[in-house]
Amino acid sequence: MDYREILAQSIEEKKQEFIRISNQIWEYAEPRFQEEKSSALQQQYLKEQGFAVRSDLAGEKTAFIAEYGSGKPVIAFLGEFDALSGLSQEADNPERAPIPGCEQGHGCGHQLLGTGALAAAVALKEKMQADHLPGTIRYYGCPAEENAGGKAYLVRDGYFDDCDVALTWHASTTNTVAHVSSLANFRVFFTFHGLSSHAAGAPHLGRSALDAVELMNVGVNYMREHMISTARVHYAVTNTGGTAPNVVQSEAQVLYAIRAPKVTQVKELYNRICKIAQGAALMTETTVDIQQVSAYSNLIRNEVISQQMYDAMNYFLPQNYTEEELEYARTFQKSISDLDRSNLKNTVVNLVGKEKAKEVLQSPMLNFLCPIPTTSGSGSTDVGDVSWVVPTSYFYTACWAAGTPGHAWQQVAQGKSSIAHKGMLLAAKVLACVGYAFLTQPELVQQAHDAWVEDLDGESYPNPLPKDLKPFLW
Ligand SMILES: [Zn+2]
Repeated sequence: MDYREILAQSIEEKKQEFIRISNQIWEYAEPRFQEEKSSALQQQYLKEQGFAVRSDLAGEKTAFIAEYGSGKPVIAFLGEFDALSGLSQEADNPERAPIPGCEQGHGCGHQLLGTGALAAAVALKEKMQADHLPGTIRYYGCPAEENAGGKAYLVRDGYFDDCDVALTWHASTTNTVAHVSSLANFRVFFTFHGLSSHAAGAPHLGRSALDAVELMNVGVNYMREHMISTARVHYAVTNTGGTAPNVVQSEAQVLYAIRAPKVTQVKELYNRICKIAQGAALMTETTVDIQQVSAYSNLIRNEVISQQMYDAMNYFLPQNYTEEELEYARTFQKSISDLDRSNLKNTVVNLVGKEKAKEVLQSPMLNFLCPIPTTSGSGSTDVGDVSWVVPTSYFYTACWAAGTPGHAWQQVAQGKSSIAHKGMLLAAKVLACVGYAFLTQPELVQQAHDAWVEDLDGESYPNPLPKDLKPFLW
């Protein structure tokens, strides 16, 4: 029997277990660095499946590596399990309905992501065992992809140093190889300290930290004209200094996200923004503390791995959706905004051309394989950091109704549905097949390595995290 059929069959046989794990993690909905139950559940399952597990890595309590086999090559499957704040939502409800008493929700499908990668590792382990294959496979339980870049700490502390290939995926509305670069991204807190005083009685004695935040933001907004057009700078005022206008605010804080195609470009912008912050402090006679809390590097693409992923997806697609599942997806399509709808139309036209788009848009699931993209991505992921030290690639599978927006309650609502599970199981099969190809063909590992060296073009990992920065909650 074809190895793809054997791996797929092994995943199908255990699918109820994978669905149970994914659904359980959906219910835990634990945010970054607090994924204790989600991480423990996966660790326990992988131990039962014969993997050796080590946990609490790189200062991240919920990080772990589950390993099977020995020697080269070393194939890594990357998993995630963190949820997002403010996205609590009842499962299967097409109207906004947060679960009372619950704040978090899986609005990025990481319950599927982690479990799909775990399922691939389990299936490949069975095949290795049956065929007495040499080599090592690892599942990386990676905390805090959202808002903290958990993988960057694991990379910095050397946990990927001996890997040959890293593979992962992400839930989406399309089936496509993510052969696009992602944006490098720094998160930085600027905390201003001034002097409090009575705003009417003794304004001359006060020094306003809130003024400093405002002046800093104005300065950065003037800087926008003089930065590369592909850079992105966003901020959130995380402390306004209180709610009383009659008190001069002695403390205020703003959090910046600074993004650009390359991590070196982000570093340049970061240095300029630090100068603006110091200028604002000078203008207001306040002081400023600058604290970087995370860093994501841009993704180095790998065409050899991407091609393997494409071929495996092509083998397993299209999916067989039932009429009931299509109806479910249609119900969710009704909940998206007109802007999302026109975005969907543009996306499909770009993918398949104007003529075919009409036919494709008839279906509420984009049930076909997209061509390998050549454009650049606009998001950021800490998979980027892994890609600087190991040849890495990832892909998307359709887990949600076409047009479902990202980081939105509609993704949470669909997260326990059979369409989401079908996308997860497809991803598991693709990952297992690609893992098997690299495990059994040393020349393929070499080709991926050569392509990676060429794409790095003499650069080495810029390691954007400050050396002594420890993961922490903010
Ligand atoms: Zn995500």
